[in-house]
Amino acid sequence: MAIAIVLAGGSGSRMNSDVAKQFLMLQGKEILYYSLKTFQENENISDIILVARTEDMEYCKSNIVEKYGFHKVKRICAGGKERYNSVYNGLCLVEELSKDIKNEVVMIHDGARPFVTNSMIDESIGNMKFGSACTVGVPVKDTIKIVFEIYGEIYSKETPDRNTLYQIQTPQTFRYELIRSGYERMFQDTKYNITDDTMIVEQYMGMGCKIIMGSYENIKITTPEDLEFAEKIVEKNLENF
Ligand code: C5P
Repeated sequence: MAIAIVLAGGSGSRMNSDVAKQFLMLQGKEILYYSLKTFQENENISDIILVARTEDMEYCKSNIVEKYGFHKVKRICAGGKERYNSVYNGLCLVEELSKDIKNEVVMIHDGARPFVTNSMIDESIGNMKFGSACTVGVPVKDTIKIVFEIYGEIYSKETPDRNTLYQIQTPQTFRYELIRSGYERMFQDTKYNITDDTMIVEQYMGMGCKIIMGSYENIKITTPEDLEFAEKIVEKNLENF
């Protein structure tokens, strides 16, 4: 079993929209609805902590959690300036909900990724029998460059071997004590630049994370093109939603 922390505390500035991206509509339902529905219906998820911007908390409560009957959402908390602040705020509520904190597992998920599947959730939680940190990801399809910039122009510097590169998605699943300790250590540091939670385990706990197969459809909706692609994915899978 795991407690899911679903992040909806971003503003989505790359979407060119007044509405935060997790509340944009996808086939008549908010983007955030889709992942919450999957977590709500998955029998390995005990509770959900939803992290939202302070100004969106009431909307989330009435227009999403209550409207769709997502009763596993036991807490709605305020996010922070950066994604990692939002995750930490969610992590701080886990002890209130957990029945066995020593063995608790948390699953951190971007609310802007509507297409998390039950098999990703189940396989990630299954991995916690043997390991302490697991993420979904997919092999990169394109050649990836490390670049540098001179006078506003971008140049390639080197090309990492594509066979060693994965694109990392969410959900990311951890033993609670491991990720909480990682966060405490990070906040002791003078400077940090963290874009996901596996980085915390790597940099502050000295551990690698197990990567299991995600899906090329498990996209994070960031730009208007992503929304068009997402519409097609929902149309194709209407019976699941
Ligand atoms: O900004 P980015 O696309 O990396 O955001 C990934 C997820 O983290 C989104 O679901 C967004 O709502 C969430 N987030 C958050 N708090 C922030 C920034 C992002 O909960 N301060």
